[in-house]
Parts: sequence; C-alpha cells; structure tokens
Amino acid sequence: MSQKLYEFQKYLEKLNYYRRACTLMSWDLYTAAPKQGYADMADALTWFSTEEFSLSTSDELYEMLTMLSEEEEYNALDEVWKYTVRTMKKDLDERRRVPKDFYASFVAAQSMSMKAWEEAKRASDFSLFAPHLQKMIDMTIQMAAYTHPGKETYDVLLDQYEEGVTAQDIDKVFGELKEGLLPMLRRIISRPVPECRFIGRGYDPDAQKKVQELLLKYIGFNMDAGCTAESEHPFTLGFGSRDVRITNHYHVDNPVNAIFSAIHEGGHGIFDQNTLPEAYGTPAAACSNMGVHESQSRFFENILGRRLSFWKPVYPKIQAILPALADISLEEFVREICHVQPSMIRTEADEVTYPLHVILRYEIEQAIFRDHIPVEQLPELWNQKMKEYLGICPANDAEGILQDMHWSDASFGYFPSYLLGSIYDGMFLETIESELGDLDEILSRGDILKITHWLNEKIHRTGGMEKPKEILARVCGKELTARPLLDYFYQKYVKEGFR
Ligand SMILES: [Zn+2]
Repeated sequence: MSQKLYEFQKYLEKLNYYRRACTLMSWDLYTAAPKQGYADMADALTWFSTEEFSLSTSDELYEMLTMLSEEEEYNALDEVWKYTVRTMKKDLDERRRVPKDFYASFVAAQSMSMKAWEEAKRASDFSLFAPHLQKMIDMTIQMAAYTHPGKETYDVLLDQYEEGVTAQDIDKVFGELKEGLLPMLRRIISRPVPECRFIGRGYDPDAQKKVQELLLKYIGFNMDAGCTAESEHPFTLGFGSRDVRITNHYHVDNPVNAIFSAIHEGGHGIFDQNTLPEAYGTPAAACSNMGVHESQSRFFENILGRRLSFWKPVYPKIQAILPALADISLEEFVREICHVQPSMIRTEADEVTYPLHVILRYEIEQAIFRDHIPVEQLPELWNQKMKEYLGICPANDAEGILQDMHWSDASFGYFPSYLLGSIYDGMFLETIESELGDLDEILSRGDILKITHWLNEKIHRTGGMEKPKEILARVCGKELTARPLLDYFYQKYVKEGFR
C-alpha cells in the first residue's frame, strides 16, 4: 500500500470516529434523551458536527484526494478505494465551488424556512410559508449554478438523490405509470369496500414489540448486528454493517402501522447489514442513492409483506402474541393490509395510490423549476391535481401542500426517488421470479430467506458502488421501465381482486 493511501485511510478513520459520535448523539436525541437534557445533548451534537464538517472539507483532505486521483496512484487502487476517492473528490470539488458566505446564508435561511413551515402547517396557512419557499427555490437555483455550472437545475437536484437519473428518464417512466394506473385505480375503487373489524381492539405495545422482533428475524435482519428502540417516527440509523439500529412507534388501537414499519425499516437495515465487508467504513458501503435504498425497504414491505403467502407461515404466531386478532382469519387480515383507498396524506397511502402522490409532487417541482410558476399558485395546482388523480380535494393547506417537510429545507428532487424505488421493485420482482421460481411457493413454505439472500447477493453487496441504472442493467438486463410494476398491480388488484 502506498504511503498516500495509508495516510488517507488514517484520516478517514478519524473522520469516521467523529461521524460515529454524531450518529450516536442523533440516535440518543430521537430515542432516549430526557426533556431536560435534550438541549445539552443537541449542543454537543452541533459541536461535533461542526468539527466533522471542517474535517470533511479541509484543504488537507482535498490535497490527499487530489494526489490519490493522479493516474498512477489511482490505477493502483482496488475498486473500493477507487470508488471512495472518486466520490469524495467529486463531492469536495462541488462544495469548494460554493462561496462560504453563500453557504452560510443558505443554511441560515433553511432553518428559518423549516420553522416557518412548521408554523404554517400548524395554522394551515400556506401564505405564511410562501416567501420562505420562494427563497428556498431561488437559493437552490443559485446553489446548483455554483456546484454544476451550465447544467439544468432540476437534473442537478435529481442527481443528488439518484445518480445518473434525469428528468427525461423520469418523465418517461412516471408518464407510463400514470397512464396505466389512473384507469386501473378507477376499476379497483369501483368495487365495494371490505369491512375492517380489527381496529380499535387494544394491542399492548410490549406485545407489538415482540411481533416486531419476530418479523425482523423472520425476514433476515441480524439481531446481533442491530437493535431497536422507540421514536416518534420510525427510522433506520447505521454505524456500518455491524451496527444497524431501527426504531418504531406503537399505536394501541391498530397494530398494522408498527408491523409494516418494522418490515420497511427492516428492509433498510438488511441492506446496510449486508454491504461489502471490504468496504466497511468507506462510502462504498453506504448506498447514497435513495431510490435504490427505498426499493429494498419497499420490496419487503409491499412486494413481500402485502401478500397472502408471506403471512401463511407467520400469522398464527402473531395471533398468539396479539390475542385480539384471534377471530380475524388470515384471509381477512391480508384483505385489510391490501386495502386500496385514495387519501390525502402521502405517508399513509396504500401501494396503488402512493405513486400518484409522488407524481403530483414531481409535476409541481417541474412547474417550479421548468415553468417558473409563482409560488402563490402552487396550492391551487396541488388541489387540482389531487382531484384529477385521486378524485379527492384537501379541505385545507395542512392536509394539502403543507403536509411534507421536504420543500421547507430545499430537498427538491427527493420525492421521485420514493417512487423510483417501487419501479425498481417491479423490475426486481420480475427478475427474481424468473431466477428463483414462483414467489408464493417460496413464501408459503416459509423460505423467505432464500429471497433475502438473493437480494443480499444481487443488490446489497455492491449496490452502494453502482449507479441505479448500472444495477438495473446488471441485475435485470433492462433499462428503467414501469411496466413490471404495472403488471404486478394488475395481477394483484384487478385479477386477484384485492381492494
Ligand atoms: Zn424508507
């Protein structure tokens, strides 16, 4: 190993210690810190984050990366270190093009905007947020001009979350999906709504925790390299493959939310636990493409978890832990978890209506960055699209345009990755069935780990180092297409008749 690589690795090790401290403090703030100790812990986190930021943007690091990028040095590196040097150098190059003053004013404006959004949402009044949103849009355009001069702003934004996927690609697949989904949804919801009997019966949170543990183990989450806790909103936090933590939130009147959060976060966790061991502690072991990561959580949650055969081997065990489900048959339970109903809130939407929530947001982002429509017109545009796609109209801004926090901190371009995750899933499903055989047969005999191992091998291991389109080409031998997802919806909800 060259002296330069050795020094860089030592530097990265130091950086990782700071990151570990920051991650641990964030975990503590979300799951354990008591009310009176919260502010002190938050101060400590700010201090460590600032240190981490200086270390990760220092001239010293930049020099090391520049030297390691020189042809001879670079060619001597293995794949993991090539990827590490290349991505860190690219990030730093972009960051260094942003004037320090501008960056500082952007961060300050972001936190004011987030506060304004919270207040506006509480008062359900978009006009309180509108000037901040305008500022976030203007500053985002400026930021993209600094980091990627000469490039289309929205493509720059998309690239941050899904490398190599452009607005043109998304126009194509979202268009394909919308065209197939709208008539299909009308057919599905024209059928009568089944009665749901198990909500409101009382489900002990401790018992729900046991259910979570059972499900996590069942789908292949390694409890020796992971742990769980409670938080307001479920999330996954990783310290690398040997320590992946997930949270959940338990509702006494309905166990279904926590069951599916456990499976969803478990899917994220399984990804993180199964990255390439040689890449431990480098960016190559942390998939930064949000759509690819989300495809794994959604694969477990929707493609596997909302399916009769998934529950056949485990449902009786869950009934034993949650006796209130004793008189709910397997078929009735599955019918309820596959229920399709247009609703206002994206995060509560079923898998069939969910894509339309994302397409709506994507189209509004297009209206902002491509057509430059004034922010004052956005709530009306939102409501109009809700009526057109889902047949319902928000009664106020809080359940309409103000529901998500993403735009308040300028996370424009993030929404499409949620849906890209499901589109990738349709493609992965098609490939798995052609390689492993009928999924229902595998799941019915309780052999789910066969599927988990397939995902580990094909996606989790090296998925962090590849662009989404490269993964699709390698795993599915195809270009991005929404067709398989539409086929999956058609088979399940039209032919098999779930509603
Ligand atoms: Zn997720």
